[in-house]
Amino acid sequence: MSAQTGPNYDTSFLFDATIIGAGPAGLSAALALYRMKRPTVAFSDGEFRSAKAHRAHTILSRDDQPASEIRKIGREQIERYGSTRFVERRVCKARRDGNGFEVEDNQGEKWRAKKIVLAMDVRDAFPDVEVYAECWGQSIYQCLFCDGLERADRPAAMLGSDSPMSLHFVGIMFHIGCPTVTILSNGQLKPPDEATAEALKVAKASGAKVDERRIRKLVHHEDEQGTEVVFDDGDVLRIGFLQHTAPTHVVTLNLAEDLGGEKLPDGSGGTLLMTSQSSGETNVEGVFVTGDAGVVMKHFANAMALGVAAGAGVSFQLGKEEERELAKNLVEMNIRLAYGQTNQCDVTILFQPVRGFSVSLREALYCVLV
Ligand SMILES: Cc1cc2nc3c(=O)[nH]c(=O)nc-3n(C[C@H](O)[C@H](O)[C@H](O)COP(=O)(O)OP(=O)(O)OC[C@H]3O[C@@H](n4cnc5c(N)ncnc54)[C@H](O)[C@@H]3O)c2cc1C
Repeated sequence: MSAQTGPNYDTSFLFDATIIGAGPAGLSAALALYRMKRPTVAFSDGEFRSAKAHRAHTILSRDDQPASEIRKIGREQIERYGSTRFVERRVCKARRDGNGFEVEDNQGEKWRAKKIVLAMDVRDAFPDVEVYAECWGQSIYQCLFCDGLERADRPAAMLGSDSPMSLHFVGIMFHIGCPTVTILSNGQLKPPDEATAEALKVAKASGAKVDERRIRKLVHHEDEQGTEVVFDDGDVLRIGFLQHTAPTHVVTLNLAEDLGGEKLPDGSGGTLLMTSQSSGETNVEGVFVTGDAGVVMKHFANAMALGVAAGAGVSFQLGKEEERELAKNLVEMNIRLAYGQTNQCDVTILFQPVRGFSVSLREALYCVLV
């Protein structure tokens, strides 16, 4: 894809929205905003959370397709419409600029917009296990809705056992067909609280084995053959996949913080950005969060739905502001009429933009006063 595509708007243009991120969430926000004829600039630095996933699952009508392919189709469809400017650059700074926002990209260019959508996702904090990164997404699965079923005919394992939620995956692995499930604690197993100790008992009762040996490294196989866990004593455990959900942290959190956005603990050792509305609007008016960065259930379809909600929120807020502006013009008009400071020609000009939009003087005054 070319570095910059879309209409010929440049940095002198005031966009209706800046979207930071062009994954399923940012693209869906861009699509919704196109449908409302809102010129938008969308940034991507080309790094996507699902980059290492072979194929994406549990996405209606796109099941078992590569995530990159789904993004490509989405972006091509938006590009056909021509009102979204895509910029393949990293955004480094964001700040309020009058009533809107200004962002600066990594080439020092500044872009202005009335609203801003943060769709920049999270990154997974990998544990200190050798060859973990290479296996990530290939034979280490963070979400069993995404991956697992294809290799459920082979022995499986999970890494860590630090919460009832993580241990809940043991039952799911048996349920989808894994013949054995081993809990790898990578050192002495110490449940951090009563609820986890209870969940561990249930996992063992369902048939899970616990292996407390230290892990020396993992062995990565490119060919769908799963992975091998090599213990410190040299023993090897061959498995179809390793389940592990690492804590996740918001990418380029500084952008949200520069704008006054707040982060929250997500309950699993990671962070989320706080949103206060179903549209994803944050505690800062005009700043919206969408996709994985603002939600616990991190999933393609969810990111798409949240992207549409953010696009709708931006569009609704802009619409309200424009209505208020029109109402203000009407009030001014009425005042001028009342004082006889206008003539028929003025009336025609001032009323033309509000055709089809009916507002009484009282409503108009109300809009201005609130
Ligand atoms: C290994 C793995 C496998 C998965 N498999 C599945 C699956 O099978 N099915 C499923 O439904 N979900 C799956 N998921 C989850 C899914 O990938 C995410 O829920 C989804 O990608 C989130 O979309 P997003 O738009 O929020 O973020 P992303 O798709 O990660 O997009 C983030 C965007 O933000 C941009 N960005 C970030 N910071 C900046 C910046 N400062 N400047 C410019 N751009 C920036 C990036 O370049 C990118 O464009 C998987 C996740 C992982 C980790």
